[in-house]
Amino acid sequence: MGEFKKIAVSPPVQKGGSQFTPEQLMKIGTLAGADAKIEMTPFKQLYVQVPIDQHDAIKDEFERSGLEVNPAGFVTKALIACNFCKGEEAAGLETAKLLNQAIAGIETPTPMKVGYAGCALGTSEPLLKDIGVVKMKDTFDIYVGGEPKGLKVAKAKLLCSGVTQDRLAHVVTTIIDFYKENAKSKEKFSKFVDRMTLEQLQEIVA
Ligand code: SF4
Repeated sequence: MGEFKKIAVSPPVQKGGSQFTPEQLMKIGTLAGADAKIEMTPFKQLYVQVPIDQHDAIKDEFERSGLEVNPAGFVTKALIACNFCKGEEAAGLETAKLLNQAIAGIETPTPMKVGYAGCALGTSEPLLKDIGVVKMKDTFDIYVGGEPKGLKVAKAKLLCSGVTQDRLAHVVTTIIDFYKENAKSKEKFSKFVDRMTLEQLQEIVA
């Protein structure tokens, strides 16, 4: 039996949310094969085991059908975005797509989740993510350190307000880079935020 590799497959950031087309689901089932393990993760990616020797061809084929393919494991997950129910422009769909391109698949000390909400109703639960972005009229608020697991659930703290669209991806990747450079081994991001303090992080992104 050959070796397998796990990949993270998701629909693109789009109006309507995490919707697969029937063709995409058929492609996943057909290309992964009858014995493949396919897991639905809590962060809206499907983990699909594919044969290592077919990895590149399968990845290309998935991407041609409009799916996104990222590494599994200790990386930033694809952006966990809302459904953009208030409209593509009002909810910032293009900005969310650019943010997703900037952050998905970056190697990190522990798996990281970045949430995006197109308005303050926050139906994608951005304050329960490591980094949460909330669109407020024409600018964005960024929250850090949300912890949804265990008995010590914590909501993310406001890091900065009024971030403009053109600075958003830079600010979020700066936070991720700082975490990568300064985390102690496999230190969780929420603990890292507490250790570093909000004030220091605010200086880093200022
Ligand atoms: S966060 Fe706002 S724009 Fe996005 S789906 Fe929820 S209510 Fe709609």
